[in-house]
Amino acid sequence: MNLIHIKTILIFLALFLLILLLALYLSGCVDSEVKAGLEDETGREDGVNAIVSIPPQEEFLKKIGGNRIRVTTMVLPGSNPHTYEPLPGQLREVSGADIFFKIGSGIDFEIVWLNKVIEMNKDMKVIDCSEGIELKYSDPHIWLSPLNAVLMVKNIYQGLIDFDPGNADSYRSNMETYIRELEQLDRDIKGIFKENEVRMIMVVHPAWTYFADEYGLEQLAIETEGKEPTPGALKMLVEKAVENDVEVIFASPEFDVRSAETIAAETGAKVVMVSPLEKDYINNMRKIAEAFAQSSGQ
Ligand SMILES: [Zn+2]
Repeated sequence: MNLIHIKTILIFLALFLLILLLALYLSGCVDSEVKAGLEDETGREDGVNAIVSIPPQEEFLKKIGGNRIRVTTMVLPGSNPHTYEPLPGQLREVSGADIFFKIGSGIDFEIVWLNKVIEMNKDMKVIDCSEGIELKYSDPHIWLSPLNAVLMVKNIYQGLIDFDPGNADSYRSNMETYIRELEQLDRDIKGIFKENEVRMIMVVHPAWTYFADEYGLEQLAIETEGKEPTPGALKMLVEKAVENDVEVIFASPEFDVRSAETIAAETGAKVVMVSPLEKDYINNMRKIAEAFAQSSGQ
């Protein structure tokens, strides 16, 4: 008798608990507690998960969206965007991403990987950062002109407000502040090259076509179509370097410096490293412009 009584009480208790949990769940209490537990380190609950190809794009996105944006960058500093392959962890990030901001200028990494990445997450929006930029197909490094960076920032802003219109006001004012800084950078660089006689920059990797065109320079590249120069080409490069008083040859951490060192040894120039992929875009570009300005014809 007693045993049956206890069993009945237990069944009633279990039912009561079940109903209580159901009520809590329906009222949203459990749901919001679960969500709070999933917040990331920025405290963001409903921000934007974005993928970009290179660190300067990450900078542009963060300048506009701040803590609302969680960015995964594919080509990490020091690696080569022409031969890069994403890591398994990065591909996992892609599957949860809202937007992929592609450079869109025909850089090898995107040509090889973009379709595979899109295949992994068909709900992901793809924004082309190169829209409105007049492409020179011989050089995919569009971001290395500050005025192109302005257009890329505008494209990123447009992609963000389409996805997250509720925060359009803050995105807009952040974008306008950053564009003013980029335009100041452009004026500063124009000033730097007005004061200097330099007309030629000698570089290993021909990444600076947009920059050179913008500021009236001639880019002399050691590498052609991703290949080291032949002995004949090397001889011609040495002659040109001497003719133009090239004092500095610019290499970058992503590429082999040996050909630069060979030419430098023959002409007495020195080899200086510059990175086209640094995240701190404005400071990096100003530093590079100053280095270019003092590199030849003095
Ligand atoms: Zn490159």
